[in-house]
Amino acid sequence: MLHKIDAEKVGPFGEPMAEAVRSCVHCGFCLAACPTYGELGQELDTPRGRIVLMKEVLEGGLEVEEALPHLDACLGCLACEPACPSGVEYRNLISPFRTLAEEKRSRPASEKLRRFMVLQSLPYPGRFRVAATMGKFAKPFANLLPKSMRAMMDLLPSSLPPKQELQERYEAKGERRAVVALLAGCAQQVLDPDINAATIEVLTRQGVEVLVPKAQGCCGALSWHVGDHRAAQAFARKNLDAFSEVDAIITNAAGCGSGMHEYPLILRGTDDEGRATEFAKKVVDVTVFLRGLGDLEEIPDSKKEVTIAYHDACHLSNGQGVRDEPRELLRRIPGVTVVELREAHLCCGSAGTYNVDQPGIAASLGAQKAQAVVATGATVVASGNIGCLTQLKMHLERLDSGVQVRHTVQVLRDAWDSR
Ligand code: SF4
Ligand code: SF4
Repeated sequence: MLHKIDAEKVGPFGEPMAEAVRSCVHCGFCLAACPTYGELGQELDTPRGRIVLMKEVLEGGLEVEEALPHLDACLGCLACEPACPSGVEYRNLISPFRTLAEEKRSRPASEKLRRFMVLQSLPYPGRFRVAATMGKFAKPFANLLPKSMRAMMDLLPSSLPPKQELQERYEAKGERRAVVALLAGCAQQVLDPDINAATIEVLTRQGVEVLVPKAQGCCGALSWHVGDHRAAQAFARKNLDAFSEVDAIITNAAGCGSGMHEYPLILRGTDDEGRATEFAKKVVDVTVFLRGLGDLEEIPDSKKEVTIAYHDACHLSNGQGVRDEPRELLRRIPGVTVVELREAHLCCGSAGTYNVDQPGIAASLGAQKAQAVVATGATVVASGNIGCLTQLKMHLERLDSGVQVRHTVQVLRDAWDSR
């Protein structure tokens, strides 16, 4: 697409943003892949429409406030990227644009408060645990709260699992094959600490030593995707220091893994950009790492037939290109049949803080995804992201489906443990 963006004037993001606009040929192949086009049905809520809006704002021909309703409705699911024959890197546009827009936008007081609460609690496990516990008691009074705050309440589970302290080091079982470091995640540590326990068990039993650096923090993806660039940079730098000595950095939450792959963009134009590029090369999802190990311990035959539906977390499939590895690992379990969801490319509506920011669309997508799971007849649904797992659980419970919601590593750990 021809444009008149002055990349230098835009700042460090100018060049990748201008390149993404330039490479869009306006063909519209991405429209069918975009969940918000399906929900809202208008051109301005498609990837193509949003690219035009961002281009016009960057050129100075459109006020940012006019574009924002359509940009705010974007899930950041990146389903438009694999659908695009021109290779438009939409990720290089949406989060940088939100950062630039944040400097100019004004928000109502209730929205400011909600944003403050989310950004000051979710990235910090200790604070989030306190907030989730308090929110649980406030749930019965949710109807008295503004609509946007009610969405936050809906997401909180009725009970939290006990806190699990992580050691700094877990020895490999048997002969040591590799040493890795684990990103422990934020909300995940509070909502389902068993995912880290399962990850550590699966890795150590394959001969992998697992370090959990104490100095690590939030991956920064949450801040980055809502335009809080300063916080995203601070989190990124903290992790660059905390994980400096390891060969592979294991993530088990798609959003975190994808966010850490974006550190070079987050730190673009700073002294840390080179370090961030090297760092991002080491970040790998646990399923990809396991597949790359080669020989894995044989999984015992429990003599049970189980049908597992696999849900692609957007930031694993679209963000990191990881589709085959989790499916292949699940298929190694004797008696397991892995089935696909209809319209598997559609986001489940979780998408970071989207559930809170755009509760209507998020609920519609969540309900559709839960119905798609039920339609497969599977008794278990597996995925690789805490946000998706929480969303699926909530909507499957609403359908009273009885379908179990598990992280892929939990399924694998349980299968190995069934011996
Ligand atoms: S990121 Fe997702 S919601 Fe946003 S434009 Fe692309 S496909 Fe649509
Ligand atoms: S498919 Fe790619 S090139 Fe075509 S309109 Fe969408 S983003 Fe632009």
